[in-house]
Amino acid sequence: MEKNAVRAEMIAPCGLDCSICSRALAEKDPCPGCLGPDENKPEFCSKRCGIILCRKRQENGYTYCDECPDYPCADVEEKESRYTSKYPLYESPGKNLREIRKNGMEKFLEKERNEWTCGECGHIVSVHTGICSGCGKQYGAQVIPVSEDTWRIENGMVRFFLLKGTEKALLIDTGMTVRHARKIAEALTGLPVLLLNTHADRDHTGSNGEFDAFFMHPDDEAHYRASGQDGRIVPVRDGDEIDLGNRVLKIIHLPGHTPGSIAVLDVSRRVLISGDPIQEHGHIFMFGERRNMQDYISSLEKLEERIPEFDEIWPSHSDIPLHPDCIRRLRDGAEQIVNGEAEGKETDFFGQKIKVYDLGFTAFLCNR
Ligand code: SF4
Ligand code: SF4
Ligand SMILES: [Zn+2]
Ligand SMILES: [Zn+2]
Ligand SMILES: [Zn+2]
Repeated sequence: MEKNAVRAEMIAPCGLDCSICSRALAEKDPCPGCLGPDENKPEFCSKRCGIILCRKRQENGYTYCDECPDYPCADVEEKESRYTSKYPLYESPGKNLREIRKNGMEKFLEKERNEWTCGECGHIVSVHTGICSGCGKQYGAQVIPVSEDTWRIENGMVRFFLLKGTEKALLIDTGMTVRHARKIAEALTGLPVLLLNTHADRDHTGSNGEFDAFFMHPDDEAHYRASGQDGRIVPVRDGDEIDLGNRVLKIIHLPGHTPGSIAVLDVSRRVLISGDPIQEHGHIFMFGERRNMQDYISSLEKLEERIPEFDEIWPSHSDIPLHPDCIRRLRDGAEQIVNGEAEGKETDFFGQKIKVYDLGFTAFLCNR
């Protein structure tokens, strides 16, 4: 039995992708999935799952439950609610079926592989544990309290933040694989939760679908829509303020990594939440469409003038917290790259030819 592969035989009648189930990813006697033989299937599924046992489905020969006039029945609804809210990662069986109908099985499987394959080792990540079955990397949301009204949420390679005021809470980004960031935020704060995106790269917008509207710089709208994402953008620009109730946040526009990248200054705490442009021991993506090294350098110059307003920087990737001194180091490094004074190494990055400038304190991934 082949494990660690997303295959059509692993899609259950309800739409659940059994290939991301921790029992299917087990080393010993992996479960063959809902449609497979009962041998190695836990009793929870083989003897108690109403969908597996459903007579109506068997008698009518439905492959998927959406062929059934009773769809979604109570069993299907229970499963949908469990998989979209109870596990470290999010899976929507109903959405899977809709995508299979709309785009066909092959396209769906391809998307599923992209979503559930570990970026480090190529094995599949379990929806139940949020852990990669190959290397053990944690992809679920790890909620880390920073203070009584501030949280940092680590999600695999990326992190996002939750700030609470007296009236409202603000999520700054929604991670990559976590799809219920809003529920997490509401449970932690007990307040209405707004969303702001530092920029539109997909590793920052995983749970955006939970929100009808969110703050984003308008210069990132094209980038956001290009990846097929919807929702209403409430534009925020340089100098704008958001008041959560006794907690004022100021927006600083930092184009370069993307045209609409912004940082958020938590004024009273003297912390800058910076998104992707500021990283130490990380990888700053500057290749491909919409990235611009000259804009990046100008943004850092502008930010250097504001250093008196903050003591710490909290980036979305790699080391945290950072000392504001790193802004100058990054600007010097970026200038050396633009002036041809830094040495880059040509690399193949998922089929794209790029140049990596490893400056020791961080690496820039640039166009060739
Ligand atoms: S244990 Fe149940 S959910 Fe998991 S793979 Fe087997 S049939 Fe699917
Ligand atoms: S009643 Fe219909 S929707 Fe419910 S499990 Fe059976 S086939 Fe699926
Ligand atoms: Zn892995
Ligand atoms: Zn980014
Ligand atoms: Zn990022």
